Amino acid sequence: MAGFNLKDGICDSRQLSDDELWSIFSFIFSSKSKNDTSYKFGFLKAILDNLYNVDNNLRLSFDKLFMKFTEIYWNLILKYKLRQKALTKDNKRTYLEQIIEEELINNKIITEISFEALNDNIKLFICHKIKMKCKQNVVGALYGDTHGVFYSFSKKEEYIQLNPQVFTFLSKHKKVIEKLNYYEWAKFLEKVNDNDTTQCLLNKLDYVTKRNDLSVYRQILYDEFEEKHCFYCGKELNKTNIEVDHFIPWSFIKDDNLWNFVLTCSECNNKKRDKLPDEKYLDGLVERNRLLIENNTNLVKNELSTYKENKLRNIYSWASFNGYKNIFLPNIKTVVGVKL
Ligand SMILES: [Zn+2]
Repeated sequence: MAGFNLKDGICDSRQLSDDELWSIFSFIFSSKSKNDTSYKFGFLKAILDNLYNVDNNLRLSFDKLFMKFTEIYWNLILKYKLRQKALTKDNKRTYLEQIIEEELINNKIITEISFEALNDNIKLFICHKIKMKCKQNVVGALYGDTHGVFYSFSKKEEYIQLNPQVFTFLSKHKKVIEKLNYYEWAKFLEKVNDNDTTQCLLNKLDYVTKRNDLSVYRQILYDEFEEKHCFYCGKELNKTNIEVDHFIPWSFIKDDNLWNFVLTCSECNNKKRDKLPDEKYLDGLVERNRLLIENNTNLVKNELSTYKENKLRNIYSWASFNGYKNIFLPNIKTVVGVKL
């Protein structure tokens, strides 16, 4: 099914078996599915990394999707110098590469700068340009490749709406599908780039959108609560011993969400790393988020606009289903007089 020039797509909502869904993925990753550029892989990553930003109707706005898409390509093209299309005789770059290079010159930005470090207005502007260009074909192309069962979309209203069966399937098999996507994406990039630029390629794809600076979240949480204790061990926090932890590991969610951040001491943060916290802390996080919502500041309201207690509990189970079996428990012997 060719979908690249469609204005809208209605999702086929018939009952699908897991076998049928796997066979659609086999098709996407097979040579029968056309790919002159790597955009299909990048767009699938943008969906997977935004999977838990869906609203109650499982919708994702183009703004959200293309912000991630832009970040992925900004870093791949400028930071890692990876071409996104085979070199042609006239050395014509893809339109995405052209937009990024144009903005680099227009804003006098040095090439090594990561997307994270750009000024917010510049980020929004570049994202808007890429969205206007890519919504013409990328969204419809993946819709067509998935035989119209993955999502409905509207180019006018600028959203995709995931098929509920697909949302559950993607959640249950998120890590495996992500790895398949990286594998095929890396194979494609190896074909169109030289050996030097493709070193550690799988890691580059996996970490292309990882943030270094979480201080904005630390500040929000710090300002919101009078009592400043480590979420896990209860130890009192001070400015020199305070860190921000992704409660459900970043490596599973692949995004930064206030509802998933907790303040911890550095000992707990170092010990926890990529582990899932013991389930008893899940109730604590649900309660913490309830208090955040109750405080009702605009910033928090915006950050928690797609948060639901049930969704958090489901994501916790899906992380476990995806192999996060190593459970973190803090060393509470060092804490005196703290109720957990
Ligand atoms: Zn601690």
